[in-house]
Amino acid sequence: MIWNESMECMPRSQIQELQLERLKSVVERVYNNVGFYRKRLDALGIKPGDIRGLDDLTKLPFTVKDDLRDNYPYGMFAVPLREVVRVHSSSGTTGIPTVVGYTANDLDSWSELVARIVSEAGVTADDVVQISFGYGLFTGAFGLHYGLEKVGATVIPVSSGNTERQVRIMRDMGSTALVSTPSYALHISEVAEQMGISCQDLGLNIGLFGAEPSTKNLRTEIEKRWGLFATNNYGLSEVMGPGVSGECEFRCGMHINEDHFIAEIIDPDTLEPVPFGEKGELVLTTLTKEALPLLRYRTKDITRFIPGQCECGRTFLRMDETSGRTDDMLIIRGVNVFPSQIESVLMEIEEVEPHYQLVITREGYLDNLEVQVEVPQKIFSGEFRALERLERKIRDRILSVVGITVKVRLVEPRSIARSSGKAVRVVDKRA
Ligand code: ADP
Ligand code: ZN
Repeated sequence: MIWNESMECMPRSQIQELQLERLKSVVERVYNNVGFYRKRLDALGIKPGDIRGLDDLTKLPFTVKDDLRDNYPYGMFAVPLREVVRVHSSSGTTGIPTVVGYTANDLDSWSELVARIVSEAGVTADDVVQISFGYGLFTGAFGLHYGLEKVGATVIPVSSGNTERQVRIMRDMGSTALVSTPSYALHISEVAEQMGISCQDLGLNIGLFGAEPSTKNLRTEIEKRWGLFATNNYGLSEVMGPGVSGECEFRCGMHINEDHFIAEIIDPDTLEPVPFGEKGELVLTTLTKEALPLLRYRTKDITRFIPGQCECGRTFLRMDETSGRTDDMLIIRGVNVFPSQIESVLMEIEEVEPHYQLVITREGYLDNLEVQVEVPQKIFSGEFRALERLERKIRDRILSVVGITVKVRLVEPRSIARSSGKAVRVVDKRA
């Protein structure tokens, strides 16, 4: 279902008109209310009045996570704290968490955008939605919570962790949709099986997955286990939280809520825009946020725009699933590798389980990558030769698809640590 047809299906020319009008106003606001931006804009000799067309966006300075860290906690807020009604923070996956704030209007927009995203995934007022993201400073749970209530779904705010309880609640309360990280959805399924409960019988129809990278192949694996329809949605706390973009029923990229954000894709080295459709770093400018407006925020997430119209009728641009953050990129013997590329290969190999970890070590000047992946007990305790054959098969497949030689280590079921939030895919032992 389309939650807000007049916005989500707006003709492109109107979207751009709206974006320009809002861009002018956000530049004006940050210039007048955020010392950090006034200094930056003055240094570049830009006055708010210089923004006359959408092309002028590229004149504006970038913002990075460290700018928020340097102005910790409230230094980049554009309103006095008495107008801020909520704060959250980022998860701190790549360092010190950043603090973000919302005015009452910001919370309204946030619920509206999440309502769109969950509707895109197929959630309606008839659904019972289990939120298995951690409630707290993390934006994921609260963000989904209010958007889901807005569409009228029955929300079960379980939070993350206590996985057996997750399964019991799902069974007893009749959850029809699950909000979690993809890796946690897999973990819940294995705990259910251990409890002797069949995931297929549990009645989940829709998975709303986000907060960490996942490949289509991994989401397909989740679908097989649960018998649900898996959708991906993307967001980040600095820019708002979940609600930035999400997949519709056609699942060909995530529609970006362009009436609230302008998206660009740049080359992270030259900082120039890449040709439309090519991969690069996603940069987002917030158009409506009052408490923490951001100009050209560099997300570090690597993705691309998907050309063409979507069959669903929405006109908002789509972004591809992210292949990871620039920080996640590994350089193994000179070849750039994203963990997601390895994941994609692993998920196509039938004999392995969807639990893996990449361990990097250094020998002299060379970096080694060991791919640890779980295999079912019957394979693990089977013939040694068969294990060797499987290892070789995985190694060869990674070499041919990704172009690097790795060491493959098959490990016992449940030997890789599970997470109830963002999975840790890479263990770097080089330091
Ligand atoms: P942190 O940056 O500390 O992890 P957040 O909790 O704000 O803090 O997480 C936002 C980040 O999570 C994004 O920048 C992105 O890297 C990742 N992320 C969120 N949703 C997705 C998704 N659907 N696919 C891939 N990565 C995602
Ligand atoms: Zn669509």
